Amino acid sequence: MDELQRQLAAFSKAYGEKGKAITERIQQLMDAGMTVTKAVQQVFQEYDVADWLDANVSQAIVSTAQDALGAELAGALSSAELLKALSTPWDGSGMTLSQKLHGAESDMRQAIVETVKRQIRRNNTVQKTAQALYDGYGYGHVTGTQELPRYLDELTRWTRRSQENLTPEELKVIQKTIRKVKAQADGLVDDRVTYNHFKTALNELMDKVEYGTEKAAQKALKTAVEEKSRYVAERLARTEAARARYDAFIARHGEDESVAAYQWKLGSRHPAEDICDMYANADLYGLGKGVFPKDAAPVNPAHPHCLCHYAPVYRSELEGKKRSDDVETNGNAWLKKQSLHIRQAILGVKGEQEWKAGRVGWMDKAQNLSDMFGKAESRLYRMLERRKKNIDDLSDFKVLIKMKSVKAICKKYNLKTHGISYKIQLDKGSIKGGYYGSADPKNIGRIDLFPSAF
Ligand SMILES: [Zn+2]
Repeated sequence: MDELQRQLAAFSKAYGEKGKAITERIQQLMDAGMTVTKAVQQVFQEYDVADWLDANVSQAIVSTAQDALGAELAGALSSAELLKALSTPWDGSGMTLSQKLHGAESDMRQAIVETVKRQIRRNNTVQKTAQALYDGYGYGHVTGTQELPRYLDELTRWTRRSQENLTPEELKVIQKTIRKVKAQADGLVDDRVTYNHFKTALNELMDKVEYGTEKAAQKALKTAVEEKSRYVAERLARTEAARARYDAFIARHGEDESVAAYQWKLGSRHPAEDICDMYANADLYGLGKGVFPKDAAPVNPAHPHCLCHYAPVYRSELEGKKRSDDVETNGNAWLKKQSLHIRQAILGVKGEQEWKAGRVGWMDKAQNLSDMFGKAESRLYRMLERRKKNIDDLSDFKVLIKMKSVKAICKKYNLKTHGISYKIQLDKGSIKGGYYGSADPKNIGRIDLFPSAF
């Protein structure tokens, strides 16, 4: 298990514990009469879900990045500065980590509210139907029974629609009761004994419907928290940690002369064929299967659930091989050897036909094809470069610097700070703010003051 998988497993476990507590509390508030929307909102606040998500996703990002950086480089950066760098926009979305966290937290709430509401709506309909059935046939004598089949069909439909939120046993019990009412209704005549039997069956049905709707609502809540909301949280953790791993990987190997290329390695749990199979198996640059020159390596992860990673390829491993940049031809050669099923998975059904007819190139049609072939610069690169130049007085600077040490250095080197306002970070909160570096000469940050220190 690699570090990313370890982190994701830990995230999943932590979510399981949090989710259980959340489910219980929401149920408690709903039982007390609160609406699901209000209950979810209140519980997310009570249990600090936003902070929890932030802390756990950040943990996954930092640990995965540190592992990919290697001990030496990782040791040169504090977790806080690493996280800060990895929180800035880097993918196509242009969003910061905190914007993504915010979006995910709101999606998590919405997933719960919608799932539970859907079941409650179904329950309301069926409860009304059961009540109408009882009101129409539960008292006194039997009048027209023409409405009966419609009511019973409505109840049966509810069991089908609520299937996912009922156990097979619960379903069976309710369906059996409906059948019983149906059978008795067919032989219903206006005599007291038959009628009393029917009334008993109706009473039983009312009880079972009440029990069933309650169970279905509880199960809907459980599924919503444990599956739907979890999916949102885990997808964010997975994508962000995988992206951080890639960022750290190129920060580590990008400038290393002994590493000449990167090899795309398929994630261990890679259920369906997609562009990743092509990245991992095609010899697109004539350097070997899955091997990309550093300046032409596709962005990793390739798509939201991608767990593929890169491995460094050393210069010595490529001896005797000549790079070919004819990616179109090289890709065609690989695609032609693949089964129709794999070609379709990569190019799409229509795309495959057009490609086969020679009307389009594979790169025009390949789904999830990276739009940043080797153009990304690591968000950590500048930070690591600064560290390398970090000398003498500056080498002792901590990320959270004290005003005292700023003044001491300025005095030593006769730097005039009079007339400018400089912002330094005194705590972890302020480090998230601006003034890391500033374009305004009157209002500058720590990087402007000591560019080689951080
Ligand atoms: Zn992949």
